[in-house]
Amino acid sequence: KAKKNLGQNFLIDQNAILGIVSAADIHADDQVIEIGPGIGSLTEQLLLAGAKVFAYEVDSSLPEILKNELPAKIGDADLDDRFKLLLKDVLKADFQKDIGDFFDFSKPIKVVANLPYYITTPIIFALADSDLKFASLTLMMQKEVAERLEAKPGSKAYGPLTIAVQTRMNVELALQVNHESFMPRPKVDSSVIVLTPLVDKYDIDDYKHFNHVIKMCFSQRRKTLNNNLKTLVPDKNDRENLIKSLGVDVRVRPEDLTISQFIDIARAIPAKH
Ligand code: SAM
Repeated sequence: KAKKNLGQNFLIDQNAILGIVSAADIHADDQVIEIGPGIGSLTEQLLLAGAKVFAYEVDSSLPEILKNELPAKIGDADLDDRFKLLLKDVLKADFQKDIGDFFDFSKPIKVVANLPYYITTPIIFALADSDLKFASLTLMMQKEVAERLEAKPGSKAYGPLTIAVQTRMNVELALQVNHESFMPRPKVDSSVIVLTPLVDKYDIDDYKHFNHVIKMCFSQRRKTLNNNLKTLVPDKNDRENLIKSLGVDVRVRPEDLTISQFIDIARAIPAKH
């Protein structure tokens, strides 16, 4: 029986499961970290595709089930060299230490997960800011969060989360999954997002300052950038000059600015710490 507070909505739609494996582009000998294998429906397909899987799970009743059922499903009596499960909160993970020599860390790693939705964004930042060299993160999350991750300037979903993620990674929507594909059914529909390392990295040297500036720029969504910047840049002329230097109208709203323009704003404002 699913434990509700652990975000346990198990995927039962085989097409959706295969869709995730295909979005993650899994090949034989790929090294995959899976977060929350649950009863193992995704794990099974990752293993059948030939991947080596290291899984983090917090529900202590699940390892026993997986250990008993996976070998028969895969048709491999001894899965020990290809599958390892650690009973641990992924937010407390120390990947290199936890995984040890089960993976070759000189090679890229893929992360695949039907995420526990209550910790979607902390997991994304833990992965993005970890020292892992990853090829991709293929993550199922609730549709509304996915929309915010992949949003373009000028859209309603574009905001601080979009900017925080897009300054770290490339975001691509891979597939949509209806809530009927889960057991028990969540209230919301889901999307699978593929995050890959940026080819051209943004030049942000002080992330703390940058995050603070973004937060202030969006402090009141429906107001203009000019209005939202009053605390950070108290002088009216300085503020208007800063906005004009971005090449936009002084009445611009925060959601209409590109990431590069936010980086320019953060650079123009002195850091406080
Ligand atoms: N992968 C399975 C599937 O697709 O059917 C289950 C996905 S379910 C949405 C999320 C899984 O994450 C559950 O098995 C839950 O126990 C596990 N989980 C919840 N919190 C976790 C955490 N902090 N660290 C690792 N796993 C967690």
